[in-house]
Amino acid sequence: MNDPSEASDNEQSFKSDQSQINQVADEQPVNRSSKRLLRGWLLFALLIVLLVLLTVRDDLRQNAIESGENTINYIAFELFGWSPRDLFIWRLRVAGLLDSPLGQRWIHAVDRASDKPIQAGNQYHTNDTFEEDKVEAHIYQVTLERGEKLVWQLARLDTANSLLYASLERRKKKDEEWTTVTDLDANGDTKSRVISIAGDYRIVLQPELFAKVDYSLAMATGGSLLFPVDGAKQRDIGSIFGDPRDGGARKHHGVDIFAKKGTPITAVIDGVARTDTGGLGGKHIWLSGGMFGLGSARYYYAHLDSFAVESGDKVKKGDVIGYVGNTGNARTTPPHLHFGIYAGGPVDPAPFLKPEPRLPTDY
Ligand SMILES: [Zn+2]
Repeated sequence: MNDPSEASDNEQSFKSDQSQINQVADEQPVNRSSKRLLRGWLLFALLIVLLVLLTVRDDLRQNAIESGENTINYIAFELFGWSPRDLFIWRLRVAGLLDSPLGQRWIHAVDRASDKPIQAGNQYHTNDTFEEDKVEAHIYQVTLERGEKLVWQLARLDTANSLLYASLERRKKKDEEWTTVTDLDANGDTKSRVISIAGDYRIVLQPELFAKVDYSLAMATGGSLLFPVDGAKQRDIGSIFGDPRDGGARKHHGVDIFAKKGTPITAVIDGVARTDTGGLGGKHIWLSGGMFGLGSARYYYAHLDSFAVESGDKVKKGDVIGYVGNTGNARTTPPHLHFGIYAGGPVDPAPFLKPEPRLPTDY
């Protein structure tokens, strides 16, 4: 098939071309060195695939499903398993800096800051600086329950184009490793996230090596749903989730919000309301959102005095759907709304109903 002389001719001419282009004397036949180059690339590609497999983890995929924020970052997570910080670590490694004392100090800055995170509480704001001659990370931490909402606003106050790595991280329990929920932009936009997994959350900030960064960070936590009874507040919740019922035979799967008979009750989401009468709940409404009610929690409103909607009506968040009463097994108690949330089982509504998060305004 192959004429050896022709092949060697090709090799000759290629070699001479090559040596004309770059004047470097090459002892190896060129086709062998190009094979070697190809093999090098293949090895490199395999290494990348291996790294991707090692870095793409279940929890990252889970987070990608949880929220549509930062789509680009999620694609980076999903396809490459790398965050911008991971990329910077890769760059340190390539530059041979990773194992240097400085590289190690950069890598462990987050661990050092973890020992004394700043507790952000319900409302927090700071203006702070990373000095270029220090290797530091800053950590702002809160503990959140399912149904709470975290709001934040991160902005760069300097005009340098150095990199600031910023991420939202979570651990479910104290002894667990932290996992990245999403990377954050420092562009000053207000962002938020409804918490579907309870745990500790933290915003981690770290500039690249030798960068001076000035920033402003505001954070707030609160509830994620409108309060379902007009004019009522958290203090009107009289019986909490998990209280014993029927002498301990069952548990209270919701909260009771006390209000005058006839007080308007509002939809907490856009969705479809189904009304029914009878049973423990008396006049009650099931409100569900999402497509055909799938992929969404269901909200249960019980003991109504009367309905403001018909079964099957589409409603918007904030629409009045009924009025407080004491129907069903609430006949002998003062009028109240029993409000329940079901998402793969009953969920405590109280964190959802906390006052909405408000960023501090005095800065
Ligand atoms: Zn109740």
